[in-house]
Order: sequence, then structure tokens, then C-alpha cells
Amino acid sequence: MSTVNGVNKHKDRSALIPFSSRLKDGRALAQDVWSIFNALNLPPDCLNLGQGYMNFAPPKWVTESAEEALHTIAANHYSHPRGRLRLRQAIKDHYGPQFNRDLDIEKEILVTSGANEGMYSAWLAFLELGDEVILFEPFFDQYLASITFNGGKPVYVPLHPPSHDKQFSTSNEWTIDFDELRAAITPRTKMIIVNTPHNPVGKVFTREELEGIAALAEEFNLLIMSDEVYDCMVYDNKEHVRIATLPGMWDRTITVGSAGKSFSATGWRVGWLIGPQSLITPSLAASTRIVFCSNSPLQEAVAGGLEKAKNYNFFETQLKEYQDRRDVLIDTFKKLGIKYTHPEGSYFILIDISDIDIPDGYPFPESVLGRGLDFKACWFIAMEIGVSSIPVSEFYCEEHTHIGEVFARFAFCKDIDTLKAASERLQGLKKLFKKRE
Ligand code: GLN
Repeated sequence: MSTVNGVNKHKDRSALIPFSSRLKDGRALAQDVWSIFNALNLPPDCLNLGQGYMNFAPPKWVTESAEEALHTIAANHYSHPRGRLRLRQAIKDHYGPQFNRDLDIEKEILVTSGANEGMYSAWLAFLELGDEVILFEPFFDQYLASITFNGGKPVYVPLHPPSHDKQFSTSNEWTIDFDELRAAITPRTKMIIVNTPHNPVGKVFTREELEGIAALAEEFNLLIMSDEVYDCMVYDNKEHVRIATLPGMWDRTITVGSAGKSFSATGWRVGWLIGPQSLITPSLAASTRIVFCSNSPLQEAVAGGLEKAKNYNFFETQLKEYQDRRDVLIDTFKKLGIKYTHPEGSYFILIDISDIDIPDGYPFPESVLGRGLDFKACWFIAMEIGVSSIPVSEFYCEEHTHIGEVFARFAFCKDIDTLKAASERLQGLKKLFKKRE
């Protein structure tokens, strides 16, 4: 045996140290959809309607606040783990009226390093090993691994898609069966995750739906995690209802917000949790251990953004711009005769790809083979016409891949010229779909 310093040179040393078993669940180690459909893997001239981030900058008056902050001393150092005072005050002023509450900045607001870290902190703070967390399927994929990392067990309740025979349906036609929701609740259920406006469906949960969820939460003493990061993107004069504002729900709801979505700054990683002290204080304890505090200069910038938004009529103008962006894609799919879901919120539109006609032997990369039809369809569409999208089966558990794999998600958080250019390329979809007689 050839050994050097007691080390056998021929032994496989590539996996000497076993990783935590927590990573075995929740697809935590699998290559995720964001890295497979990353711009780096696609042709350089591909128009990216895949991962949901903007191809434009935050407003200038917001980035100016960031620059100003970088030139101060304090904002280059640690912040309070709850978040910078100025930002918590700005969140209070902006969101307080929406919650009909005089929010307490010392107890009811926690600034986090993006919405993701905020949710992770809350799961870490509240889940016991084996606690069940109800997710409406499809669900934003990050939830899954973050729940299982923290010992939780995901339980799936479907949003029922509209009939596949329909040429056009609205996101509101993705429905909850309340008997199914009730049946999913067990003595181990701890929490229901609500995501409105919804990624990837674009559904804006109605007041009645939220009242139905609230009644069950009250009956079974459940915590509600309400991911409302797309709260600025609600179209067609629909009402964005915050479940925390329904009777009794404040005490059991954590509402999640995101500066990345509100100010086109997804890389800044500034988000927040709003809720009662009993839910925010344990989340703060978790967040303090994960990041200690969120990055300081960009907290100042977001504070400036919220403070000045009114002067610029910012949120109203931005909403109109998003609605125009959405309508470019809606119009495109409608004219092409491709089945789609009309989104009432968020910045995603789903199309039905079940009629895609992929030639035998088409060269797919390893990462796409063995996945649902949608992975192949999105790859094929990106390669053939140069527009990327996201396969929706990633937002389903493995057993339900067959439900999700007939959809592709296109993001419209892109400038109007890019969307128009994408619309032209999408004309090429006609020849990629089987003719229906
Ligand atoms: N929320 C964005 C989307 O759904 C980005 C998600 C991510 O990259 N983790 O596209």
C-alpha cells in the first residue's frame, strides 16, 4: 500500500466528511432551476424571461440614497439586528396604514437580508422537528428546502388549475378546495404559507379565500406566513388583501415584504417581516444568528425610497408600467392562440406547453434530461427562438410533476423594448407546437 504521512493515495477522498442529513430532503442538493436556466447556460443573445429579476435599474433617486449612505461613516458599519431605525420608521409610515395599525418599530418590524432570509428565520424560530407546513402547490421552490432544513415537513394542497381545454383563463381560476385544505390539517400542522400575489400563477387571493384560510388557522391554532413580496404588482383594479388585517389574524400572521421587488433591486437583499411581537422577537433571535444584521447602506437607500416614493408618485407609475409590460405578453399569446393564464398579480405569465412538438433525439443537456416535459420544452424554446422561461414543475413536489410539467413561466419584469423583441421571437412558437385540428 502506498501511503504518505499515513494517507492512502489510492483511497477515494472526494467525500470524506458526510454532510448533514438535513440536506437530504427538500431537493436541497439538486441543481435548481435557476442554475439550469441561468443566462450563462443559454445562448448569449437569448432574451431572458426566465428568472424573475429586472433588466433595468432601481430609480435614480433611490440609488442616489445608496450613494449618499456610502459616504457616511455610520452606514458602512453594523446596523441594529432589527434593522436601521430610519428604515423601520419608513416601513412603519408606508405600511402602517395598509395594516390599519400604528406599527411599533421596536417590536413589530424586522428588517431581513431579503425576504428569503426573513422566512428562513421564522421557520428556524418556530418549527419543531416533524412540524407540518402546508404549502399551496405550485409553491415558490425556495420554501421547500428552507422548511426541511429546519426540520419541517411540507404538506401540499393544490391550487386547482383551470381546464386545459380553455384557451384563456385568469389566475383567479386556480382554485382552493377548502375540504382538501381542511383534510390536510393534522395535529402536527404548525403553519400555512400564503403567497399573494402568487409566484408562479399570478393569483391574487380573494378576501373570501383568505377568510376561509383564516377560519381554519383560528380553529386549529396555526401560524400564517404570508409572502406578499409582489404586493406592488396587483392589476385590473383587484384588491390586495393582507390576511393579517382580517379579524384576529394579526396575532398569528407574519407578513413578508421585499425591497428587491418594490424598487427593482433584487440583488440588494433587503426585505422585512411585519407581525406581532410574539412572532417577530423569536424571528429576530434566529435572524441575528444567521446574519447578525442586514447590509447597512442599502437599508438606508430603501428607507430613502420609501420616504420619497410619494413625491415621485412612484408606486402608481410603476404599477402602470408593469401592467403595460404584462399586456405585451398577454397580447402575444392571445394572438398566437397559445393557452395562457392571465395574471392578476406578480410579474409572471404561464402558458400551456402540452402541445410542444420536440423532435426525437433533440440534444438536451444532462441537467434537463430526466426532468419533466416542461424542462425540455423551456430548453427547446430557448434554443430555437431565443427566449428563456422557467419550467413550472420545479414549483411542485416530485409526485406532482405531471401537473406542473405542462406549464412554462415567462417573467415580464423587463423593459418594454425587450418584451416587444421577445414578442417578435415568440411568433416562432407557432412552428414548435403541434397543430391542433
Ligand atoms: N423570485 C424570483 C423568481 O421566482 C427569483 C428566485 C430566485 O432566483 N431564487 O424568478
